[in-house]
Amino acid sequence: MAIQAPEGTRDLLPDEAAFWDRFCATATEVFGAYGYVPIYTPLVEQTELFVRGIGEATDVVSKEMFTAISGENLKRLLEGETLKAKKRLSLRPEGTAGVVRAVVQHDLVPQGAPPVKLMYAGPMFRAERPQRGRQRQFNQVGIECLGAEDPTIDAEGIIMLMRFFERVGIERDNMRLLVNSMGCEQCRPAYREAVRAYMEQHSEQLCDTCRERMATNPLRAFDCKNEGCAAVMANAPKITDELCEDCAEHYGQVRALLDGADVPYMEDPTLVRGLDYYTRTVFEVQTGDDRAQNALGGGGRYDKLAEEVGGRPTPGFGFALGYERCVLALQDQGMELPSAQRCDLFVACVDDSLRAVAFQLVQQGRDAGFVCEMDHQHRSLKSQFKLADKLGAARVAVLGPDEAARGEVTLRDMATHTEALVSLGEVVDELGRALL
Ligand code: AMP
Repeated sequence: MAIQAPEGTRDLLPDEAAFWDRFCATATEVFGAYGYVPIYTPLVEQTELFVRGIGEATDVVSKEMFTAISGENLKRLLEGETLKAKKRLSLRPEGTAGVVRAVVQHDLVPQGAPPVKLMYAGPMFRAERPQRGRQRQFNQVGIECLGAEDPTIDAEGIIMLMRFFERVGIERDNMRLLVNSMGCEQCRPAYREAVRAYMEQHSEQLCDTCRERMATNPLRAFDCKNEGCAAVMANAPKITDELCEDCAEHYGQVRALLDGADVPYMEDPTLVRGLDYYTRTVFEVQTGDDRAQNALGGGGRYDKLAEEVGGRPTPGFGFALGYERCVLALQDQGMELPSAQRCDLFVACVDDSLRAVAFQLVQQGRDAGFVCEMDHQHRSLKSQFKLADKLGAARVAVLGPDEAARGEVTLRDMATHTEALVSLGEVVDELGRALL
């Protein structure tokens, strides 16, 4: 059998590739209005960045990361050598750690500077079990803002994400915005202990994974899809009852700003999100009712992450959204991917002797910015018309020997089927008048 794309990966064929490009362009436009500018970081980073940044006990680090290893280093490993940290590389499972690393490495937020607002788009890699909406290579668009802890950053980020989803066509009624606060290093440790103690009391009703989580990362049990665990965790202590004064005030302001902007949301005190770095605000936008893969995107505040990766204390806020999940949501709403193909002018030749003239005309049209095509396979006139139709040509210029001798072509409007004789030198101007 011919070689297939690896499990859990997907080709973006032309229509979808063009859609992805427009999706990113929309993000640049919407996020740009809030001051976000692009940054692109490597797809591979030192493994240590993710282990320290995302948190060792998270699912992503413990089992979902792809290690990137050169043939030579693999040989060394198999021979029992250990690799230096610099040589231990992983494919990025998410974008935040790399962006924060770049901000620290290039000192993008010097002391006293205004916050830096960055956006990115591109593939992420997680060794998960592939299923609908869950791939091993998937595309995210995300933003990170470093250098400000004010709740205005959180609120404008959440509003911006909702505006983006609406701009790409996801209906407002089709989305749920959940918000929560995870507290900070003052209030979270006590809360974590309270949840651990509660889980211990109910450990016989928990799945094996959650029993393990009890020791390593008890808050992750809130994300367990097992019904028994969900029932137990529904009555667990709520973080929002345990927030310190500053965190409660911060959370209150985020909500007030969302209220003021008329952005509907639901508070969900069980929303913890997968990664360890979150502090204070966390949020998620969900769609449909497929509980497992219903998150379109989400994020939150990470005021300790810059220090985790070796920088000075720099508060941060960010989110990522899943491109493939958005496409699924749009398709569930009935959207079909628009065709990437466009053709403004197709030049057809009555016989082969005219191909050089056709070639020149096509070239003139392209130089003027129109999408122009001709036949490259010596087809009959009839099948050249079929091809023009297939390409969705708006106009077809028919070059016959008599017309060519007079320096003219017949220009046919494929929508109205009307035809006119146009001089060769006028075709491009005529296209401009008709199509622009
Ligand atoms: P996370 O970094 O886990 O918060 O993910 C952010 C968003 O990326 C999610 O809300 C999903 O839309 C998307 N996403 C995460 N993991 C996958 C995956 N394995 N396949 C496709 N999309 C994903």
